[in-house]
Amino acid sequence: MPVCPYCKQRLSLQDVKREVHGRGLLKQEIMYSCPYCDAVLGFSRGNYG
Ligand SMILES: [Zn+2]
Repeated sequence: MPVCPYCKQRLSLQDVKREVHGRGLLKQEIMYSCPYCDAVLGFSRGNYG
């Protein structure tokens, strides 16, 4: 189980908040944040093609 490095709550993939940033399909970034303390856990590129 992954643990939030900030609040030490256990996280599951279903709990992690995803927020899509950026406009246009080619420049999207997905931001993952902790549902308990709202700390940003990471980004991933949303390059869909
Ligand atoms: Zn947290």
